[in-house]
Amino acid sequence: MINYKKKGFKRTFAFFLVAALLVVTGSVVYWREVTHRLQQDAQVILEATGKELAADVTRIISSQQKILTTLAISLEDDPVLRHPHHLISYLQDQNKYNLFTLTGYQFPDGKTIFSDGKEQQNFLSQGIIEAARKDNFFLSHENAPRSDEERGSLLLVVPVKNKKQPWGTIFAMQPVSSYKKTMDRPLLTDIKLSMVINQQGDVILSHPPAFDNNMFAVIESSAPDKKFPKEEIHQKMAEGKGGIFGYIFRGERRFLSYHPIEYNGWYAVAILPAASIAKKAQFLVLMSMVICLSIISVLAVLLAFILWSERKNSKALYKVGFVDPLTQRDNLNSFQLKFPASVTTSKAQDKQIAIILLNLNRFKALNDIYGLTQGDNVLCEVARMLQEELLAGELCCRIVADRFLLLLSFANRGELTGRIEKLVGQIEKNCHVADEPLPLSVTCGVYVMEEETPFYIMLDRAHLALDTAKQQAGSRYAFYDREYLQKMVTEKRIESNMETALTQRQFKVYLQPKYSFKTGRMVGAEALVRWQHPTQGMIRPDWFIPVFEKNGFVLKLDQYIWQEIISFLKKRQEAHLPVVPIGVNFSRLHLDDPQFIETISAAAQSAGVETRWLEVELTESVVFGDAKRMKQVLDGLHAKGFSVAMDDFGAGYSSLNVLKNLDFDCVKLDKEFLARGETNPRMRQVISGLVKMIKELDSKIVAEGVETEEQAAFLRDIGCDTAQGFLYSRPLPLEEFEAKLEEEKK
Ligand code: C2E
Ligand code: CA
Ligand code: CA
Repeated sequence: MINYKKKGFKRTFAFFLVAALLVVTGSVVYWREVTHRLQQDAQVILEATGKELAADVTRIISSQQKILTTLAISLEDDPVLRHPHHLISYLQDQNKYNLFTLTGYQFPDGKTIFSDGKEQQNFLSQGIIEAARKDNFFLSHENAPRSDEERGSLLLVVPVKNKKQPWGTIFAMQPVSSYKKTMDRPLLTDIKLSMVINQQGDVILSHPPAFDNNMFAVIESSAPDKKFPKEEIHQKMAEGKGGIFGYIFRGERRFLSYHPIEYNGWYAVAILPAASIAKKAQFLVLMSMVICLSIISVLAVLLAFILWSERKNSKALYKVGFVDPLTQRDNLNSFQLKFPASVTTSKAQDKQIAIILLNLNRFKALNDIYGLTQGDNVLCEVARMLQEELLAGELCCRIVADRFLLLLSFANRGELTGRIEKLVGQIEKNCHVADEPLPLSVTCGVYVMEEETPFYIMLDRAHLALDTAKQQAGSRYAFYDREYLQKMVTEKRIESNMETALTQRQFKVYLQPKYSFKTGRMVGAEALVRWQHPTQGMIRPDWFIPVFEKNGFVLKLDQYIWQEIISFLKKRQEAHLPVVPIGVNFSRLHLDDPQFIETISAAAQSAGVETRWLEVELTESVVFGDAKRMKQVLDGLHAKGFSVAMDDFGAGYSSLNVLKNLDFDCVKLDKEFLARGETNPRMRQVISGLVKMIKELDSKIVAEGVETEEQAAFLRDIGCDTAQGFLYSRPLPLEEFEAKLEEEKK
């Protein structure tokens, strides 16, 4: 049986292996691709975020500048407000609406009043005041803090202009915390850090608070061996441009974007760690893998189901195709499938192979008598017995009904026939129905494999051998015999052509003259048939007469020849030409025809040919078959005036005793009988004795097949009357025979 289990497992394993490989490589490629894309995207977003951050910081500072400017204008316009008396409460009032934690006003004389009521001399340096007056605004992160709280706050300074009075200056402190909201940008990317720096890298604002000194220095010192594009950044910053770059910070890869804000050449900086991108990529890949694996699992379950049902189907199909439903053993298909392997095994063992077709004779009758169930049991039992007798590499199957096929290997014929006989004997002896031995007989057709013969041809040959065995009564097996079968084929061909041959007058009469030993003149002739076949030429009677005797056609043929001879005689007599008596061969089958004598005499009578010109030749075997009937026929023929010859005397079990009781006009000595006398002197004595005795019975003696002068001399000497043989003349076509008759006249 084909190993479906193994095959299915291998296929499944291969599928999962391939699937796993695909998933792994796919995931790696996917992960790399996703990471790459994410990094690209992240940089784009980072850049946008950075720009936005720069814009936002600019906007906030600008708005605070405006507020402070408005305050300055209000102080310009209203000198009362500048009065130290009112100033503090005014500033305090205003601070409720802005982001400043502290505001103050520095008088031209250096007196400084803070919104918290404190006073100080020269809080703002002259430089700051000058710068603020020049640009109408000054911004600094270095604010000469009065307390720790104020450290890191931005200082905004706006000049207060007054034409009549000297300049005053208003200022405000804005805490870093007021930028917190703006700087905190989780957005889409995991911004690690947002900062505002100056071009030297000094940190002005930071969220969360970090880089308390210089950003560039911190980055450089964290990974000194990694290249950090400081020069390029300075260059860009000098041009007022922004950008993005990647760097390593404490072993972690980061991206940094820097974009200018509109104050002091400061830059807004956003930092994004690459790890967060990788994390996202990992998450995405993980998700994809989960989805992928789920799909694969579903597919695997589906595949497993398909494989399972396929296996189930194949098993069922195998059973239908390769198992005999009755015996549950091999059928012809599986026999055929295993055949080549068996041939190889036998060849390897240097053994021959025989295909044996085994038939249980008259099994249908047994089925009928004992019932189908018992019949089936017997078939199963036979199958089991055969199977048990097999050696390694040998095969057995039930073909149909009661026919089994075997493959046996053997070293010599004797071994093979021994095994066949044993098998047949076992089956015939051991098959029982309800404890009663079954009258079972077995016939086998054996084909010994000669060369690489196709399987179906071997099977055909085993069938032919079986047919042969069945025809040979009493034999249990027969080997395939090409010659025998060729004969059968010839017979079949002859049979299929014979009727046409008769109607088309393909059968020709030849006449072989008989001569008198005494006078040397022609005293008679024998009609011998020839088949002038349109394609095969002249066919000798030895070929077709035995076939026609088997199928009965000889009856028709003999009548036809008889008729031809009568016509011949009639024609010659009417032409007043000389004739001789002509003997015609009749098959023994005519003796079974009660009308035989009547028919042949009627033919002669209706043609008006006298019966004395016609002789009936009957073979020796017929004569000794049924002496009573023979006598009847002989008397009947004599009564009609025919003379009767016993043909082929000496060929079989000649018995003079029988001959004594039968009144033959003539006895024809068989040519083989004479031939034996040629070589054997004792035989010659027997022949001469026989001839003498036959003569005493008053029969004429014709010696057939006389070929030599010596034979002729011997036969003449022992008293034979007539000679027929090639020495005198071969059988002749009618025209030639007529010419010979003409010669006789001379
Ligand atoms: P048969 O009746 O014994 O015929 C004599 C056979 O011996 C003929 O063979 C003939 O040609 C052959 N013969 C004659 N002289 C010699 C000779 O010197 N040497 C040898 N070796 N053979 C010789 P043929 O014509 O082949 O006929 C063979 C047999 O066929 C006949 O044997 C006869 O039994 C049968 N046969 C022929 N024609 C008919 C027929 O029309 N009807 C029937 N039933 N049988 C016929
Ligand atoms: Ca004859
Ligand atoms: Ca003969």
